[in-house]
Amino acid sequence: MDRPRFQDPQVSLYELAADDILVVCPRCGGRAVNAARPTGSRWVASWPRRLTCAACGYAAAWEPAGATSVWGGPVDPFFGGPLWLRAECCGGRVLWAFNRRHLDILGGFVGAKLRERGPGPGGLTLVARLPAWMTAAKHRAEILRAVDRLRATLEN
Ligand SMILES: [Zn+2]
Repeated sequence: MDRPRFQDPQVSLYELAADDILVVCPRCGGRAVNAARPTGSRWVASWPRRLTCAACGYAAAWEPAGATSVWGGPVDPFFGGPLWLRAECCGGRVLWAFNRRHLDILGGFVGAKLRERGPGPGGLTLVARLPAWMTAAKHRAEILRAVDRLRATLEN
């Protein structure tokens, strides 16, 4: 999808993780879901999580007590396994996303002719923190092809 304008939706990785995170099932290699179990806390990284695979029945739980989460790479911040939505592109870099919403934001940003800041202060948003290789015009077509490849894996 090629849109002329893109406005930063001003979401953070943490907000995206409030939704399901798609991961590679550690047992069968299929598409599994890491779902949040929201608590009263506003801090998404402290919510318990549950990993389930519809294909093979694998299930695991993550509890915040005594555990850490690691953010900012192509792995599940909680369970540590590889994300489902990841693709090599642009000379060995890895494009990655937690879920469809995340992928749509990346595709919208990279595909836009005109990029606008959102209405509020945006220093910590996902879009404001994208690495330079993702914002380089020379990588635009290749990144959009990778986004399309990843979208295709969500079609079933
Ligand atoms: Zn499985």
